[in-house]
Amino acid sequence: MKKVYGGSYTIKKDSDKLYSVNLIIEFFPDSTYEGPVAREKVPDYYMEKVQSCMQDANKKMLGPNGETLRINIRGSSKSDDCGIKKTNVGIRSPNERSGVLHYSSNVDCPTILHEILHLLGLPDEYGGDYNLCRVDVPESIMSNSNMRWDSVFISKTRNSLLDSVHFSSILHKNCAEKNRLYDECLHKSIDWPKEECEEKKNQCELKNLTGRNKQQEIEIITGKLKEARQNLHEEQKTVEENRKIIERLIKELSTGKHGEKGKKAVDFWKKQLKQLDDLRHPTMIKLEERLKIVKSW
Ligand SMILES: [Zn+2]
Repeated sequence: MKKVYGGSYTIKKDSDKLYSVNLIIEFFPDSTYEGPVAREKVPDYYMEKVQSCMQDANKKMLGPNGETLRINIRGSSKSDDCGIKKTNVGIRSPNERSGVLHYSSNVDCPTILHEILHLLGLPDEYGGDYNLCRVDVPESIMSNSNMRWDSVFISKTRNSLLDSVHFSSILHKNCAEKNRLYDECLHKSIDWPKEECEEKKNQCELKNLTGRNKQQEIEIITGKLKEARQNLHEEQKTVEENRKIIERLIKELSTGKHGEKGKKAVDFWKKQLKQLDDLRHPTMIKLEERLKIVKSW
């Protein structure tokens, strides 16, 4: 069993590309609570806030192949919830740092999403003082949730709040093979021996930040490869035309009509012909090699 942060959830496949995750959370005012509403209003106020944040987030929880993940938060279980355990989240003072089981009273949507994703089993992705071995992934919802949220909703430089590896980890949480690199680099990093951790962390960061976008990467390379093949095809047409011209030239020069000079020229053109045969497309070779590496992630 993978270590999941005390969270419990169900996943349902609603349609071909739509998955919904159901979580049961109840909010309560912690002893340090200080916030916008009276203590007795905390459960409803924060439920509404969290649901509204999820409504926004759900528009951009996209998987690598056009799938959508929808997170539904409810306050109590229904009969078909298959025994999801309720998570109790305490609300504290506005200055307090939010965590999985306690939010600051002025918690924002990106942070709420980050904490809920912990309940779905995703680990943090920022290094720093607490965990020197931890792989640092810039602009991930699990490292800098505000930056990721803004890149999706404000600057629109990214399309999804999730990296494909997150999507896969939530959907196939027990499939070790599918999430191998992510598990090795993030879930298991806590167990790395101190003397090996720096090297392991560097290796993980080198592999395209834990291979998190393997599927996208494969698609990009495959697209470029297709383009390179097309170019090669065009090039080969030119090569064929050149070959015909050279062959004609050699035939003409070989007749002896052109004397010694002609014979020397034959040798020259034969070499040219050989070079044409050796022509390979360097871009394509590089892409094919890269594809092999990415597929092995
Ligand atoms: Zn976190």
